[in-house]
Amino acid sequence: MTDCIFCKIINGEIPSYTVYEDDVVKAFLDISQATPGHTLVIPKKHVPNIYEYDADFASQVFARIPKIARAIRKFNPDIKGMNIVNNNGEIAYQSVFHSHFHLIPRYSDQDGFS
Ligand code: 5GP
Ligand code: ZN
Repeated sequence: MTDCIFCKIINGEIPSYTVYEDDVVKAFLDISQATPGHTLVIPKKHVPNIYEYDADFASQVFARIPKIARAIRKFNPDIKGMNIVNNNGEIAYQSVFHSHFHLIPRYSDQDGFS
């Protein structure tokens, strides 16, 4: 999709710090870090939200999330937990309409994310 910032990140038109990439997904640091290491996992195929996933697409995308979460956790021994968040629709705080999953490392109950 030409006007989508995440498609532009996939194409390399907008720079990003890549955490993981394969033929199905790209994972990169969120420009606004909720906590250090806050990563977005996006499908390479443009889909606006979770309602557009069929079972096969969901299994391909979701299957990749645990290993990306493990890689982030391995990177920093201070990570004690992780929130995984997927917003769908403006009312649910979705601001970029290319589906994505937030992987938000948690360090303490005062790490700034609630
Ligand atoms: P949403 O609010 O849609 O769930 O999350 C969108 C996320 O995309 C936000 O956390 C925002 O900081 C991030 N974001 C928006 N534009 C860019 C960008 O150009 N580069 C990166 N790395 N993240 C972005
Ligand atoms: Zn897109």
